[in-house]
Order: sequence, then C-alpha cells, then structure tokens
Amino acid sequence: MSISATAKPLEGKLLFPFIAPPNGGKGTQTQILSQRYQMPTFDMGAAFRAIMKEGKDPQMKAELESFMSNGKLVPIETVVKVFKKNFEELAVQNPQAKGFILDGFPRNQEQANALSQLCTEWGTELSKVIYLNVSMEVVKSRATGRRFCSQNARHVYNIHDSRLAPKQAKRETDGSGVVTDAQGREIWICNIDGADLIIRPDDEPQTVEKRLTEYSRETDPLIAYFREQGQLTEINGEQAPDQVTQQIEIEIQPLLTLSPAP
Ligand code: AMP
Repeated sequence: MSISATAKPLEGKLLFPFIAPPNGGKGTQTQILSQRYQMPTFDMGAAFRAIMKEGKDPQMKAELESFMSNGKLVPIETVVKVFKKNFEELAVQNPQAKGFILDGFPRNQEQANALSQLCTEWGTELSKVIYLNVSMEVVKSRATGRRFCSQNARHVYNIHDSRLAPKQAKRETDGSGVVTDAQGREIWICNIDGADLIIRPDDEPQTVEKRLTEYSRETDPLIAYFREQGQLTEINGEQAPDQVTQQIEIEIQPLLTLSPAP
C-alpha cells in the first residue's frame, strides 16, 4: 500500500520523533503517550524485528541480522524503504489520529534529510523532536536489567529498578529454586501474562557497548543539528518515568489541542 497523489493521510498530521540513547526510556514513554493521546507509534527497531521474525525476505532478514547483532545502524536504503512502507500503512489504518510518534527514526543526519523529503511529499512537518537525555552510566546499568516479555514485547521490565521490576522469578516445577539461563542469570516472568521474560540480543553487554559507540558517532551530531534548528525539546530522562511523561506532555499538549480535528 502506498499513498496516492489524491489521498494524503498524513497531510497536516503532527509528527513527534523521539531520540534517546539505547535504554534511554524511549519505549516506555512512547507507549504511555501513544495510549494517552491515541497517537500510533512507528517503532523502527520493532519493524525490523518483525521482518526478521516473518522471514519472507531472506535477503533483507540476513542484512538486518548482520547490522543489528553488531549494534550498527542498518543502511539508509533499507531504513527508508521499511519506514516509508510501514509508516504510510500506519497512517492509512489510523485516519482519526491527530499525530504519530516516531520511535528510533531518524537516527542520523542522512535519515533526517530523508524524512524531511518525505514530509514535503506528505504535506506534513516535524512538530517537536523529543530528546531524552540520559548519561552513559545510567544507560549501561539499565541495559543489563532490561527484560522483555516473550509473548508481547511491549511488556518491558527492568530488574535493577524497583519501579519497573517484574514481581516473580521463574521457579522450577519441583519447587527446587529459581530457573536460570545459560549464563546463570535468573529468568523472570511477565506480570501481565505470566510468559518468560527474555534478554534481547542487543542488550547483551558487548552489543550495548557497540550501540553506545554508534549512538555517539551517528546520533550526537543529529541532536546538535535539531538543537541548532530550534526543533529540539530536551527532557531529563534520568527522572522518574512519570516525571519524564509529565514534562513531555507539557510540550506536546498545546500542539495536540491546537491541531485541527481530523
Ligand atoms: P531499537 O529497537 O530502537 O533499540 O533498535 C534496535 C536496532 O535496530 C538498532 O541497534 C539498529 O541496529 C537497528 N535500528 C533501529 N532503528 C534504526 C534506524 N533508524 N536506522 C538504522 N538502524 C536502526
């Protein structure tokens, strides 16, 4: 499905890209705001993971795997192709939405330029770029604690943070103790559906290091660019999650109120 010249489902819609380091709280915040304001989220990393899981395009699957498992950014051609197709579909499926959240796109200057061109084509523009500023030390500690539900990746936990920790570790059926993985780490279970929680391959310590290096190299200049353009809204991402949400809401609420009803 692609947008025809006559139907422009993105015309006049608000677009809110979110930028944060890996484990910067982007997923948590975009999930809350998406529900609260009925703004669908496009999540670039999730779109890639869905393509790999589906396995319909073995060539693209192999390409994505090779970049993602090394914490590297996927090449621009693939990023733009996947973004355009999936995001346009999301817009067509959600004609009532006032705006959309972009989680993990753009991640560098080249992607920002591509997005800017697409916005011109769609008749829209970036509303505010939300940047969650979190130090590298905090990000590393969060990474080693992050766990995802194996049934629903939107159920996210952190075993190092009492506010986000799962309630129960998995126990042996004979009651002999907690179940551990191959590295001796305790396996936890989801508070919502009881499924096992898993560690995403890109949260493994070596990959985290690589992703942070990539983030500094690719995304730091993008943050500087949006700041210079006056488009950046910087939020202290080290605060409690509800405080972070409140501050983002202060920034986006006026725009959502003023935007014309669909
Ligand atoms: P995330 O789910 O946002 O943590 O992304 C997981 C991985 O997907 C990243 O480490 C990259 O390899 C890839 N990825 C996600 N978004 C992008 C993007 N905008 N450009 C290139 N690669 C991306």
